[in-house]
Amino acid sequence: MERYRVKPGDKVDLDKWDSQDTGAYQGNKSDGKDRLEELTAELEELQELLFAENKHKVLVVLQGMDTSGKDGVIRHVFEGVNPQGVRVAGFKVPTPQELAHDYFWRVHQQVPGNGEIVIFNRSHYEDVLVVRVHGLVPPARWKKRYDQINAFEKMLAEEGTTILKFFLHVDPEEQRQRLLARLDDPSKHWKFNPGDLKERERWGEYQQAYEDALGKTSTAWAPWYIVPANKKWYRNLVIASVLVETLKGFDMKLEAQLEDVPGLKAQLGGSSD
Ligand code: ADP
Repeated sequence: MERYRVKPGDKVDLDKWDSQDTGAYQGNKSDGKDRLEELTAELEELQELLFAENKHKVLVVLQGMDTSGKDGVIRHVFEGVNPQGVRVAGFKVPTPQELAHDYFWRVHQQVPGNGEIVIFNRSHYEDVLVVRVHGLVPPARWKKRYDQINAFEKMLAEEGTTILKFFLHVDPEEQRQRLLARLDDPSKHWKFNPGDLKERERWGEYQQAYEDALGKTSTAWAPWYIVPANKKWYRNLVIASVLVETLKGFDMKLEAQLEDVPGLKAQLGGSSD
């Protein structure tokens, strides 16, 4: 999955990243889904261990245009995990109280603690995306934010947080199809926000803002992955793979922590059979 990682300092041109890509699977959905099942089962076990070990902190950032599948990733990649150790934090239009503070204020409160995986559904990146596209603060302010974000994430990493950032890359035609599907199915109407059509008109500006954000903030300590997301199963597979590889890299072990097990068993009246 290395090829989807943005190397620090790379300039990103999203037109060169194929949102339709299915890698080695070459469109073979059924093989891809089988693999995804294996990966989510592995993720389930690894997360259990992460929680029990209570040592590592994992922050997963999800960004992408409307309909790119942020909610779908949360549902499908994390479906088997123990809700005790996994939390989702969503970031919507800031409240007046949030706006009265710096843009990290609401974010910092939500970062993971020991043993936890936290998924950011949108994030502080909105402050160089929607905020830039809509001119919600002057350019002189948002332009400084890339360095600020790198510094903030570096601090988190140095304090023990593993950060993985995923940009779900869909193309405008795929978005059109997904918006139409929402309109065609009354049970999906709740997901349709007429405001999304206005944002869609600004596709080019958003892509530019994303290209800058991805290029300027993919660092050794908090890499971005550009996930081909037209095919939902492949999108999920890429993210699950990166997570499993990362958690495996922690080399987690549960060491026996109790010293006198026979003595404790004796207190319970002997063996369990
Ligand atoms: P979602 O699309 O994530 O399912 P919503 O439809 O409620 O949920 O959208 C959340 C909205 O909040 C998005 O349009 C997003 O751009 C906006 N938003 C998030 N963070 C900020 C921010 N810092 N400033 C302005 N708007 C923001």
